[in-house]
Amino acid sequence: MFKGILITKDEAGYGACVQDIDASILGGGDVTVRVEWSTLNYKDALAITGKSPVARRFPLVPGIDFAGTVTASASPQWKPGDKVLLNGWGVGETHCGGLAQTARVQADWLTALPPKFSTRQAMAIGTAGYTAMLCVMALQKHGVQPADGEILVTGANGGVGSVAIALLSRLGYHVVASTGRLAESDYLRALGASTVLDRAELSAPGKPLARERWAGVVDSVGSHTLANACSATKYGGAVAACGLAGGMDFPASVAPFILRGVTLYGIDSVMAPKDVREAAWQRLAQDLDLSKMEAITSEIDLDHAIAKASELLDGQVRGRVVVRVSNP
Ligand code: NDP
Repeated sequence: MFKGILITKDEAGYGACVQDIDASILGGGDVTVRVEWSTLNYKDALAITGKSPVARRFPLVPGIDFAGTVTASASPQWKPGDKVLLNGWGVGETHCGGLAQTARVQADWLTALPPKFSTRQAMAIGTAGYTAMLCVMALQKHGVQPADGEILVTGANGGVGSVAIALLSRLGYHVVASTGRLAESDYLRALGASTVLDRAELSAPGKPLARERWAGVVDSVGSHTLANACSATKYGGAVAACGLAGGMDFPASVAPFILRGVTLYGIDSVMAPKDVREAAWQRLAQDLDLSKMEAITSEIDLDHAIAKASELLDGQVRGRVVVRVSNP
């Protein structure tokens, strides 16, 4: 038995609570990991509260990411004592996830913890930070350079947004942070934003083509915000879309794509191939200022994760939340 959050759905309804869990519910996998740290991502909050159908088997341990130490392995890829991390692969959705002291997973799903990071630092970055890196890599691969102009980051106070700002500013880009929380402008500037924009300027229906402003965009909001970001992207620029915090719809026109050659990149962290995720974690080790990560990270224990999930969905959480699952 080990401690964790368990989501259940039965005649009594949908619920999540911290309890002792029997290993028999963990599901198949050739590697067992003692989870030291997990995080609270947007998707975890949806799973815990039941606000969207993220959890797709019951009972389920939520948590789409974790970092910890291998305790048993039937695979030659890993041995007891190895430090590992995991993002996605359906963990916390169809397979028991990181918000419990023990996880059992497929060997291929694990990534070696970059030596630069502790397990806590890796989870301060978490899936949000790894996704932010995938977005930055997409813009760079497209050829967007700092000299090309401003980069818009939406959902700026969130996990993806905060890490994207820190990464882009470290790489020399001029970052414009779009937020609904202008009171947090000092926080966003400390992270590296040059300009802070009220998200209301982007969230209403806009024109098919607006004045060209953005050389690139990292969007975690979707809906009208994404459409407006595309319509104001400069000729030949690129938009990396990864989120739906403002809505899943995309009420846009084709004008930016066919008249300005704008490229829209879809960013998926869950099923990204192993080489892509390893490259992203290497880049995080190289490019991320860890002192900035410390400043944007708050820490809770498992007992407080359920209450925090509702706060996160209400847009009251700034930056990243790490969850202490067991003592390293
Ligand atoms: P957070 O909850 O940490 O941040 C989301 C931010 O979006 C909020 O802080 C807020 O920023 C902004 N926001 C919230 N509600 C609205 C709204 N109604 N309209 C406009 N802006 C809003 O989430 P994450 O950063 O962890 O994730 C962001 C999005 O990215 C989520 O949709 C998540 O599912 C998705 N995601 C996708 C991944 C992928 O693989 N594609 C991986 C990880 C995340 P502010 O207060 O500054 O306005």
